[in-house]
Amino acid sequence: SDASEIGRVNLNAGQRAVQVSPDVVKIILQARKVSLETQGAFDISALPLQRLWNFKSSNPRVPTKEEIAEKRHLVDFRAVVLDSNTVFLPRPEMGLDLGAIAKGYAVDQAVAILKKDGYSDFMVEAGGDLRTVAGELTHGERKIWVRHPRKPDEFFAVIKKDQCAVATSGDYERFFEKDGQRFHHIIDPVTGYPARPVVSATIIAEEAVIADAYATAVFVLGPDRGLELIEKNPGLEGLIVFEKESESDSMLGWKVSKGIVEEIEIVN
Ligand code: AMP
Ligand code: MG
Repeated sequence: SDASEIGRVNLNAGQRAVQVSPDVVKIILQARKVSLETQGAFDISALPLQRLWNFKSSNPRVPTKEEIAEKRHLVDFRAVVLDSNTVFLPRPEMGLDLGAIAKGYAVDQAVAILKKDGYSDFMVEAGGDLRTVAGELTHGERKIWVRHPRKPDEFFAVIKKDQCAVATSGDYERFFEKDGQRFHHIIDPVTGYPARPVVSATIIAEEAVIADAYATAVFVLGPDRGLELIEKNPGLEGLIVFEKESESDSMLGWKVSKGIVEEIEIVN
């Protein structure tokens, strides 16, 4: 699987290039494109920082400033050596994590298989990423509900679109609280800390791999630069929900890209 291939790449960091499948090469190329477009806000080589926070464990923690300073320079998508079928990480402590993009890629693959098998009306969903294919049955009927980032059983918005891919990155997916502060799993490579002030970023695109990667990227970039990135890309639309920093009771604000205004309704 992708995960074990990447595991081997990481184990061999600083030592040798590791052969990977065409799928992994495609994912890394797509990730690199998003990294370039976001000046590294999106970076699959952010693993050294994620190891410090340890969100995937049962006891994540806040690292010290010194620890972050020590690891930050290891995060650099430009240093990843990608050949036609091998990946090499030039420094022993480097590491890749495809968590922000691989799920979307898998959704697209499932869609391709179902299409090939003759299905024409369906939805594929994998933890926050989904893609719909619409035929006559669902034409004009499909609605995609976006979770409320702060009310677990409620929705924030509804998107009326027959056929598209939608991915949401949220700070509620994996987090812990310490001294009244929320620390979540989407890390800004510039600071080494969880990105602020976005709480959920939803991207609508044609392919799930694109929606997935840009949802994470926009989350890190923030509401202004994030919306700018969406508007600059003809294939992207989005909804960004963020904490208004000036308010003491952390009110939520939101921004919607121009191309989706007609199809999206805020219902919170
Ligand atoms: P997603 O749910 O698609 O937003 O992906 C979140 C996951 O992406 C995290 O759990 C990390 O594994 C990874 N990640 C965190 N920060 C970044 C970042 N700045 N760039 C790329 N991947 C990241
Ligand atoms: Mg993502």
